[in-house]
Amino acid sequence: MMRKKTYSPRYWEILEKRKNLPVWLQKQEFLQTFKQNQMVLLVGETGSGKTTQIPQFVLEAVLNENPSPNCKKWLVGCTQPRRVAATSVSRRVAEEMDVEIGEEVGYTVRFEDCSSPQTVLKYLTDGMLLREAMADPLLQRYKAIILDEAHERTLATDLLFGLLKKVLTNRPDLKLVVMSATLETDRFRKYFSDAPLIKVPGRLHPVEILYTLEPEMDYLEAAISTVIQIHTCEPPGDILVFLTGEEEIEDACSRIARKLGDQVLVLPLYSTLPPAVQQKIFEPTPKPAVRKIVVSTNIAETSLTIDGVVYVVDPGFSKQKIYEPKTCVESLLVSPISQASADQRAGRAGRTQPGKCFRLYTEKSFNDLKQTPPEILRSNLANTVLTLKKLGVNDLVTFDFMEPPAPATLAGALADLFHLGALDDEVNLTKTGEMMSEVPLDPQMAKMLMVSSQYNCSNEILSLSAMLSVPNCFIRPRGEASKAANEAKSRFAHIDGDHLTLLNVYHAFLQNNQDPNWCYENFINYKAMKSAVSVREQLVRIMKRFQMKLCSTGFDSRDYYVNIKKALLAGYFMQVARLEKTTGHYLTVKDTNNQLVHLHPSNCLDHKPEWIVYKDYVKTSRNFIRTVTHIRGEWLVEVAPDYYNLAKFPKCEVNKKRKR
Ligand code: ADP
Ligand code: MG
Repeated sequence: MMRKKTYSPRYWEILEKRKNLPVWLQKQEFLQTFKQNQMVLLVGETGSGKTTQIPQFVLEAVLNENPSPNCKKWLVGCTQPRRVAATSVSRRVAEEMDVEIGEEVGYTVRFEDCSSPQTVLKYLTDGMLLREAMADPLLQRYKAIILDEAHERTLATDLLFGLLKKVLTNRPDLKLVVMSATLETDRFRKYFSDAPLIKVPGRLHPVEILYTLEPEMDYLEAAISTVIQIHTCEPPGDILVFLTGEEEIEDACSRIARKLGDQVLVLPLYSTLPPAVQQKIFEPTPKPAVRKIVVSTNIAETSLTIDGVVYVVDPGFSKQKIYEPKTCVESLLVSPISQASADQRAGRAGRTQPGKCFRLYTEKSFNDLKQTPPEILRSNLANTVLTLKKLGVNDLVTFDFMEPPAPATLAGALADLFHLGALDDEVNLTKTGEMMSEVPLDPQMAKMLMVSSQYNCSNEILSLSAMLSVPNCFIRPRGEASKAANEAKSRFAHIDGDHLTLLNVYHAFLQNNQDPNWCYENFINYKAMKSAVSVREQLVRIMKRFQMKLCSTGFDSRDYYVNIKKALLAGYFMQVARLEKTTGHYLTVKDTNNQLVHLHPSNCLDHKPEWIVYKDYVKTSRNFIRTVTHIRGEWLVEVAPDYYNLAKFPKCEVNKKRKR
């Protein structure tokens, strides 16, 4: 079907490397077990070749089998929790198989499908497989499914566990492989009723662990000075540094590069980086640099393996999702990692030779590190419940969760969906709910889009939703250029807030014919804008499928912005804050329990309006609300009359509660 007659020299060259990966030693054992069982668990050290090789083994096994009537084609799917991993690994595997990406080997991530009818091996995010299950509940397109990085226990992977268990009983011809780095073997085996387990022993060299004697006050400073110290005092070998996010990473990279100049190659690694830049971490370090320094988010912990790393710098933090059912607030917070994560990070240093891991915390702190609960226990579940409902799981309580979420969290999710009009009194999906579930956006944004025609501004809300779904479009350079960047941003600023500012950027991009130079001059991220255009096209297709009107209020009408803001509020009415005049602070209203919040410094408002709607709640040292827009209090009752029932919500309530 896909076998070529001749392969390129590169193919044979890579094949030699592949054959040295630990999983190759157990290829026959794997194939045997795979043939004899419907399901296999596979545990192997990071870098042993699971993600790149096992799907190819599976493909080989599957291609040799006879077609079955249930299955229309021979697709093998391999899920990844992270978008970057799906795109990066599939490219690598396409290269290993000597084919063009998007043909026999492809990937599908949200808003980007790089696969074709020819595709027989597809890497996709776990969230995308869930989406596919909505349209194709028995996953008929697939002959085998591989759930990778199961140890990460992402929300979507946890749901797929429960879902696939059921699908397997209805599809005896479907095969499932669950792969992970460090697996709580017992929990998994029990859950998957004693499926056979294959262990791939790692080939790790010893890693010396060094702790600090005192806790570090500033882990970023400490990480940078540790890198410089390693470079000056230690023998050759690449360095991998773990930090928590894009901004921090870019900051660290430029500071290290400034200090060490061209003796080293400093590379950032995070999810929103373009693929070509990501690929650089795998390339040999060009002279005169003698050392590669990769500064990465958690991606490099288990998802991507960089060969040649000898030194790991681990400050002990990562950005983690947290959820407080009491306040219904989900946010990202820089938090201490677990011991398992710390050990994974250290392991990255011993891939090719004995290495060293510099932990920027004390040994006592390491011993005090706690296990991180799975994402399902740390999330707002509105989206999950919507997905499950659409998948036909009506009784959430009896769904076969590996670890069931707290009843209060489920109840909160049901309440949110009810307020959004996605569920009726009998807890069934409404027509709006059906449509919302098919839009690949969170429920609030989906709702905003679904009502936008009624507010006569679906064109604008489509553009806004697209802008909110892509990486930040504003480039924020360090140093001298930052002033010019701020000035550029202020030219787009809309005094009523960030949502309208994003809309201004989108319109300006189109008016300037999507010109990359225009972006460059205005400190706008061209790639982000291009993907916004593409996301918008995809959303338009969905709107058309639902036969919704694409319309705009005339730009010279007084209602142009009013309508947009009302549609925005119709989705996000549960995320509203009000200014407390006496203190000058914002307090969130209603279910979020009057939390004191601050406007994120990135906001574009030129004043402090009484009422604002916000998109994100960000916790750092303080509580911030980010992406905010000025609204009018009376719209709340107009847009969400049941939620903001004036009789139940007297004006003084905010203050009363605050006093208490
Ligand atoms: P695992 O999933 O067990 O952690 P992988 O299959 O991801 O292991 O990695 C196996 C090997 O493939 C590693 O040595 C890694 O460096 C290499 N590799 C993965 N992606 C690329 C790439 N894009 N370019 C070069 N090498 C790669
Ligand atoms: Mg892997």
